[in-house]
Amino acid sequence: MKTGKMDGLEYTLKRSNRKSMGISIERDGTIMMTAPHHAELIDIEKFVSEKRIWIYQKLAQKKALNREGPKREFVNGQGFLYLGKSYRLKLIDGSGIKSGRSSKTAPLRLWHGYFELAETENAKARNHFISWYRKQIKKQLKERIPRYDKRIGVKVKDVRILDLGHRWASCGKNGSINFNWRSVMAPVWVFDYILVHEMVHMIERGHTDRFWSLVARVMPDYEEYALWLNENGADLDL
Ligand SMILES: [Zn+2]
Repeated sequence: MKTGKMDGLEYTLKRSNRKSMGISIERDGTIMMTAPHHAELIDIEKFVSEKRIWIYQKLAQKKALNREGPKREFVNGQGFLYLGKSYRLKLIDGSGIKSGRSSKTAPLRLWHGYFELAETENAKARNHFISWYRKQIKKQLKERIPRYDKRIGVKVKDVRILDLGHRWASCGKNGSINFNWRSVMAPVWVFDYILVHEMVHMIERGHTDRFWSLVARVMPDYEEYALWLNENGADLDL
């Protein structure tokens, strides 16, 4: 068996009596490429290249399953992510943080470069972060969907924010999109890629050539963002 490299992906090449080429991802993440004895290297490389998005996705899933999350603790100084930046946590005395002129208080806010959490809410910190992220996703989407919907030619009717585990988003029925609450921890261009990916799924369900060319039309650098997610996705967690 030989190894080859294509688009930064290292694969193991196995020649066999089969008539067509195939790719599988082994348990340990090895990319196993099977090809007929007579297949030319250039065609094998082309095949790997065409399958690269599928490969990235499979590898990302494996990684997410095999790796533990970052395990952030809700203590002073711990960094928490929002749109690709890390902000440190500051515990604030009392049971709520006053924001602005209103008399209402919030358990958590992002303020002057810090996440401020009311100290008495510490036991519920994880839930407060999740609901804060959910709010930010709604806010971001309100602003960002209109940048793409006409260009793609779809109408997003509803957005739901769920715990989708290692998936970033999924396409629901009747013009709805499901978002993972973790998605807004990614840099904004990656967040946009997650959005565009699902919006394109509204017109093309599968990861076909047509699908990727529609994504590329709106977002020519999408591969860079897909790669970023593959490499950094596991860190986008609490
Ligand atoms: Zn997809």
